[in-house]
Amino acid sequence: MPEKEMKILFVDDNPQILSETTRNFMTLFDIETAVGSQKALEAFKQNVSFAVVVSDVKTAGMNAYQLFDEIRKISPNTVFIIYADFDDIDKALVTLGSDDVFRFVPKEFDNSLMVQCLSDALNYYRQGEGSTSYTYSIAIEKGRVQKIHRSNGCYSVTGYPARQLENDSNLAINMILPEYRKMHAGHLTRIFSGQEVGPIEFRITRADGSVRWLRDIVIPHRNHVGEIIRCDGLVEDITSFKEIGRKLCESEIRFETMVSNIPGVVFQCILKENGNKIEFAYISQSCVDILNYSQHEIIGSQEGLCKIFDDASLESFRQALIHSASEMKSCNWQGVLLVQARERRFQILAKPRANGKEEYIFDGLIFDITVRRRTEMELIRANQELRENSRLQNEFVSTVSHELRTPLFIFKNIISNAMAGVFGSINSKLRKNLEMADTTIDRLSRIISDFLDSSRLEARAMNLYCRPVSMQEIAAETAASFIGVAKLKKLKIETMLPNEPLMVNVDRDRMTQVLTNLIGNAVKFSSQEGVIKIFVNDHLSEVEVAIQDEGPGIDQADIGKIFSRFVQVNKIYDKGQGGTGLGLSIAKELIELHKGRIWVDSKPGQGSCFSFIVPKYVETEDESQRLECLSKS
Ligand code: ADP
Repeated sequence: MPEKEMKILFVDDNPQILSETTRNFMTLFDIETAVGSQKALEAFKQNVSFAVVVSDVKTAGMNAYQLFDEIRKISPNTVFIIYADFDDIDKALVTLGSDDVFRFVPKEFDNSLMVQCLSDALNYYRQGEGSTSYTYSIAIEKGRVQKIHRSNGCYSVTGYPARQLENDSNLAINMILPEYRKMHAGHLTRIFSGQEVGPIEFRITRADGSVRWLRDIVIPHRNHVGEIIRCDGLVEDITSFKEIGRKLCESEIRFETMVSNIPGVVFQCILKENGNKIEFAYISQSCVDILNYSQHEIIGSQEGLCKIFDDASLESFRQALIHSASEMKSCNWQGVLLVQARERRFQILAKPRANGKEEYIFDGLIFDITVRRRTEMELIRANQELRENSRLQNEFVSTVSHELRTPLFIFKNIISNAMAGVFGSINSKLRKNLEMADTTIDRLSRIISDFLDSSRLEARAMNLYCRPVSMQEIAAETAASFIGVAKLKKLKIETMLPNEPLMVNVDRDRMTQVLTNLIGNAVKFSSQEGVIKIFVNDHLSEVEVAIQDEGPGIDQADIGKIFSRFVQVNKIYDKGQGGTGLGLSIAKELIELHKGRIWVDSKPGQGSCFSFIVPKYVETEDESQRLECLSKS
């Protein structure tokens, strides 16, 4: 029942006729009835809106004409149908005028005629409701307007019923905003005087006070002697179209402002003709400042491009675009372009997209990177110089260390021979001095070794000789080597080692060096009678070693620094035990060379726990065979 959502009101003084008339249409249309015109008006006044009113031409108290007039004041778009005896139809036509009534139906109608009539009336109503345009027709006689007829959509567009505008010609003018009235009047004058006119656009204030944009298109009709006798026109509400136009304009301004603020030239280019042609479809205004060419010199022509690129650069840019299009990846081209006869370096970044015509559109940016490039080059040079300086420094340290090692070795030999009595007997005073000299030489040798290791690590010249070994074995051996020194400070060294060997593929001497350094520091920084604990833990694919002491701890602020070369933050150790500040940095580098990590957890007054992890040894098939062969041979 498609017509149900719009109501139809049947009006008659006789309830019986009313029910007989409407009975057959009740299932097809949403029909209500009113006995007498008064009841019909009441229904409208109670806010019930009817799309169509069908009324007997004669109703008590008020004729159909008066009833329609009243209804129109409340519901201007309602469509009216009159049913009457044949005789009355003629009379009604004379009284009412055909404009007011949509259709006349004789009382003895057959059902199909009424159904057709009601459907047409509902359609007409629908066109008027929510319509954004209406048509009009102006009858003209001797250059003077005789009558204007506006279609139903007039109410929807202007908020005024067509009838109201027809009765009040001032209203039709006054609803036009004052600034457009003169233009509108001139337009009409030109039409009536027979001139050709195009569409006009103006603004009106609708009945509800809102301001709308209208466009009026008019076609004049002439009689056989060329006089204008009628004008047919179409009035459209173009407010949303204007609004879209305004928004488009705003968005274009926003786009231009944004693009001109971007530090570079924004462009769009098209790679055409199988990659043989590049054409710029858009380039931002900044090309004037950055490339010294105006937009129109570059956009749309191949010659424009030749202004920016020389042959070689253009070819390399073209190749970069082709490559980028074939991989559908961003293009990053760098090259030299001539700007005002001076070479400048540019970077062009662009992203491709296919446009479905075997062409590729690139949206991108052009940057002048001359200054950046210069700075980069200076940085690279400075870096090279620094590296060279550091290499020379390392070479120097290494040469000096080697030069010192040989005499130290000779002194140590002489001293141990002297202490062994090779040069004759020595008294206790001399022995004590020789012992002191021997300890000092040992310390000096350690320092020289540290210097050498550090410079080798820095120069990435440290070679590791790795083989599988149990981490517990290294930890136990190194811990044992400290028992004597620890005893002197009444320190206890405890090892917590799991029974199952945790195998690691490491350079045993270097791993011992790391542990010696960490346990040595723990002993060095611990006060008397403390405990040093050494843990070896299994961590899935890694082995962890931790050395925990009860020493002074380290400030949070210093923790980040102590793994750097020559950094010493706790200078409270015993006389003669001073270090170089190289031990931890060497330990860190060595652990990292073993693909591990080293760190410390510490708080002042709560001791320190230095830990490191290295990957577990994973035996491959080849290796296990190789190891088997070795053990057999
Ligand atoms: P060195 O021991 O020769 O001074 P290291 O590189 O081994 O150099 O250590 C750097 C610094 O880290 C030490 O000077 C000390 O300040 C701090 N440090 C290292 N180990 C400990 C520790 N166990 N307890 C407290 N401070 C430590």
